Amino acid sequence: MSKRLQSANVHFNQSGTPVADSFDDVYFSNDSGCDETRHVFINGNDLAERWLNWQAAHFIIAETGFGTGLNCIIAMQQFKQFRAANPGHPLKRLFILSTEKFPLAVADLQHALAVFPSVSEEVHALVEQYPPALSGCHRMNFDAWQTSIDLWLGDVHELLPQWHCPQDGLVDAWFLDGFAPSKNPEMWTEALFSQMSRLSKTGATLATFTAAGVVKRGLKEAGFEIAKRNGFGRKRDMLTGILANPPANRVSTPWHYRYPDTPANPTQHIAIIGAGLAGSTLALALCQRGIRVSLFGQAPAPADGASGNQQGGFYPQLQADQSNPAMIQAHGFLYARRYYDALAEKGLSFTWQSCGVLLMGFSKEVQKRQQNLLQKDLWPAQLIQPVTAEEATKISGIDIHGEGLFVPQGGWLCPAEVVAAQLEAARKTGLLSEFYNQRVTLSEDGRNVALLGDGIQIRADRVVIAAGHECAEMAELTHLPLRPVRGQVEAIPEQAPLNELKTVFCHKGYLTPGWNGRHALGSTYVKGDTSTTRRKEESEQNLATHAKALAGYDWAQSIEHDGTARASIRLGSADHQPVVGAVIPPQKTTERYRDLYKGKHNSQYEVATDEQALLVLTGLGSRGLTTAPLMAEILASQLCHEPLPMSESLLQALAPERFMLRTFKRPPEA
Ligand code: SAM
Repeated sequence: MSKRLQSANVHFNQSGTPVADSFDDVYFSNDSGCDETRHVFINGNDLAERWLNWQAAHFIIAETGFGTGLNCIIAMQQFKQFRAANPGHPLKRLFILSTEKFPLAVADLQHALAVFPSVSEEVHALVEQYPPALSGCHRMNFDAWQTSIDLWLGDVHELLPQWHCPQDGLVDAWFLDGFAPSKNPEMWTEALFSQMSRLSKTGATLATFTAAGVVKRGLKEAGFEIAKRNGFGRKRDMLTGILANPPANRVSTPWHYRYPDTPANPTQHIAIIGAGLAGSTLALALCQRGIRVSLFGQAPAPADGASGNQQGGFYPQLQADQSNPAMIQAHGFLYARRYYDALAEKGLSFTWQSCGVLLMGFSKEVQKRQQNLLQKDLWPAQLIQPVTAEEATKISGIDIHGEGLFVPQGGWLCPAEVVAAQLEAARKTGLLSEFYNQRVTLSEDGRNVALLGDGIQIRADRVVIAAGHECAEMAELTHLPLRPVRGQVEAIPEQAPLNELKTVFCHKGYLTPGWNGRHALGSTYVKGDTSTTRRKEESEQNLATHAKALAGYDWAQSIEHDGTARASIRLGSADHQPVVGAVIPPQKTTERYRDLYKGKHNSQYEVATDEQALLVLTGLGSRGLTTAPLMAEILASQLCHEPLPMSESLLQALAPERFMLRTFKRPPEA
């Protein structure tokens, strides 16, 4: 999954239907795309009847071939109608997971769907969130439809093995689409059918427009019972199926299994320790799912630690490869951008300037790195693009003499206000209790939360530690290589010509546009230091770093500073990636997996399905604004047994147990 995706080349035929040039096949029927979707995929899976009889809180559809998104938006429209007609029904949310190897340009998608006025609202909502062509999972939440669409970009054969699957299966219904088997034989393979079977719950259904023998035989061999129904329009037959013979083992890496035994549900109560960006984002994600949350902060108010800075830069740290860290940053950023847009649309107020972020090529070495990144051509222009000195000058409002990179969708936010807005939204659900000024310790089973100080005892079904650098001191987490790092940020008084600055300006340090009469200029990076006292020498260091990186700029040599600054402690991990997931006791992980280096078959290992009473969401370092929304969404999804919006390999790069497992994958030294 590390190639730039190719976009689809399409033309529109005489009926106005989109046709893929390289497959010479239509995206949907010339007769009526909407009716075809309803006949083949919605009715083929008997969705209306199944939804009415469904007892679980969510239903999961998976599709091969997202194309224009027509199938998805018809399904979400039907679901909205179902919810409106059955407001008290236990089925509350629809998830649609769809793969696409050749994503349409957004203009082509709009053109293709413009002929269907009955879904214009859905099309508008989809277009607003439609992601750039970056491989991997893009979660789009459509709250008014109580639907989430996970658009997985890439080849279905590479993607499906990357879906993290519960032991009893993930998918309830398949929309088996794709160009006709005669025109796209590479897609309709045994490997696809066997992944469908791995991912299906027992009783999952499928529907497809084709009745080709190769499809029928392949699905049967993979464990589906197949039936023929009348096809749509000029097609005589189509196929439907149901998974009758489930596979023995669905879990590909038992040592990284994420789903708890019992899904979180509205009768449960989750305690979150830490009221910064991580804790408040998770609190909102859980309250929105109907879960009762108690949030504990050590300080008298939320966002007292690293999340309390006035201005935080918002952009992804990309590299010249699509390594796990770069992909976590890219997907974290794109999800966060959609998330903040949605938060603002809900009428919650927090200061946010979507002014872009300029990454200056301030030294020969950095210029070389930036050139290398551009030459590899891996990242879509919506994420990062080159700028000349003139463009940089125009974008930033100050005279820049060198080239650089620009993140057009980036900018800065006030983290403390984001925290406040999230808590306000969570409070509106009536499910949030907040406890500040509390030092919290956990009882032995990781469930009983004892508040020292005023003697309250609260029992929670699960506890999530999202306490930033205080995590490093918690006994339950001492086996994790967590590293506190002190960072001091200067609050520089507005002055000419800095007050002209219109974009976040990054070099070795960073400088933000002015707000409330100040610019943020940072930051120092002192490993292992947990003091938050302001230090004069760090102010001097920050200014000196700035002056050195901008040696050719007079204004950068003589910045006036009155010494106002804020120091806080960020928590990173040994490999600099977030740490998100259940904390299985280390002795259990050792007992189960210490001989991983022997390379035994996966099925020979026990699945890590502990109660998962203790979880962690930390290690966001100084990048919480970029990563917190997606990390919290992953954790909330796993707790509620929902689909996870990230590939298995990236999830593994975030897993708390990764550090221990790495040592078990190497043979012990003699
Ligand atoms: N369901 C779509 C809709 O509602 O517009 C129409 C799908 S169109 C007939 C088939 C889609 O499958 C195309 O968008 C094509 O790019 C995609 N596709 C073909 N081969 C694929 C593969 N190997 N992996 C993922 N997608 C693939």
